[in-house]
Amino acid sequence: MTDRLPGFNTLAIHAGAAPDAATGARATPIYQTTSFVFDDVDHAASLFGLQAFGNIYTRITNPTNAVLEERIAALEGGTAALAVASGHAAEFLTLHALMQPGDEFVASNKLYGGSINQFSHSYKNFGWTVVWADNDDPASFEAAITPRTKAIFCESIANPGGVITDLAALSQVAKKHNIPLIVDNTMATPYLIRPFEHGADIVVHSATKFLGGHGNSIGGLIVDGGSFQWAGDARYPMMSQPRPEYSGMVLAETFGNFGFAIACRVLGLRDLGPALSPFNAFLILTGIETLPLRMQRHSDNALVVALHLSQHPAVSWVSYPGLETDRYHALAQRYTPNGAGAVFTFGLKGGYEAGVKLVSNLQLFSHLANIGDTRSLIIHPASTTHRQLTDAQKTAAGAGPEVVRLSIGLEDPADLIDDLDTALRA
Ligand SMILES: *Cc1c(COP(=O)(O)O)cnc(C)c1O
Repeated sequence: MTDRLPGFNTLAIHAGAAPDAATGARATPIYQTTSFVFDDVDHAASLFGLQAFGNIYTRITNPTNAVLEERIAALEGGTAALAVASGHAAEFLTLHALMQPGDEFVASNKLYGGSINQFSHSYKNFGWTVVWADNDDPASFEAAITPRTKAIFCESIANPGGVITDLAALSQVAKKHNIPLIVDNTMATPYLIRPFEHGADIVVHSATKFLGGHGNSIGGLIVDGGSFQWAGDARYPMMSQPRPEYSGMVLAETFGNFGFAIACRVLGLRDLGPALSPFNAFLILTGIETLPLRMQRHSDNALVVALHLSQHPAVSWVSYPGLETDRYHALAQRYTPNGAGAVFTFGLKGGYEAGVKLVSNLQLFSHLANIGDTRSLIIHPASTTHRQLTDAQKTAAGAGPEVVRLSIGLEDPADLIDDLDTALRA
């Protein structure tokens, strides 16, 4: 081969992986071990002092997880990544590296319901304050920024579906105020949107969804874009100040454009502990090998089902940016030209009652709280994922009483339409 840069499909299969040096195993082995033997005392000392890269203990690094980290960094176009136990752990460790007690961050109001809970309630215990902004109005993010604001957080394709975020506009706001833009890229995956190309500084994932893709493992990823200048910036002491944990080392100086990923690992993951099981890393890696094929099929199927529902007499509206009539269609063409993803919402003329009835009458669709499975999934957010929110928050998050959310799988779309039509008649 020449030294041309490999394409996305090739990276999805090969990035970070090589035949196992010890055994020749072609698939990435599951290094199911807690700890690793040191060569000698000096080797141990250099590992603990961060003078050498290597494995000590699976809470901090593991060779199976390392392949997953390299792969997602390559697919997103970042400098380094960190695999963690869940998407929520990825969000938490990211903010932990940025925030001090008393600090604030500005978040989009169109987020996964669990993120809204995490940000509004649990983060209060750390003295972190979330300030909400309108996902469709970049000026509202700017208006929410104060001297204590440490980051902007949004989703690329936003929950509960059908919303495309103007990442470049939010990046402009972040850059103007010299704070990082964090993008949760779970719903899009790097196959549909690569947020670093639109000015994001940090990408987080729930690998539980489309990256793993088969509904069998919880996992999360943090990707460092390498773009933010932490060095010398006293607002971000985890990266920019001498660390007592490592004899005064300054992570942004020692590790340069992947200092943030290192801080998440050697301060956040080491001390707070949400490590990913190597077995789950293996399953997520296997899922990523077919990510480009699956995301294209998910998007193609979703468009067929969305078009059908948009003409159905029991349906009042469909919110899918792939539809030409959709308010986000122009943003979708700009940010996600290959397809608008698998997840979208629609409204039932019969309201809350009709939503509860529909989820009970479907056979092929599974009624559950997940997205990004090979199987098609349905949920009525108002009675499930978003029920903890106030009515105003529900509506702001696009999860009003008549709203149903679908995550379209890889089945034959004609069978999905048949299942929906039968249940809607009942
Ligand atoms: C599911 C999800 C999360 C949380 O991820 P877990 O792996 O369930 O912890 C965060 N963000 C988005 C967009 C999600 O869909």
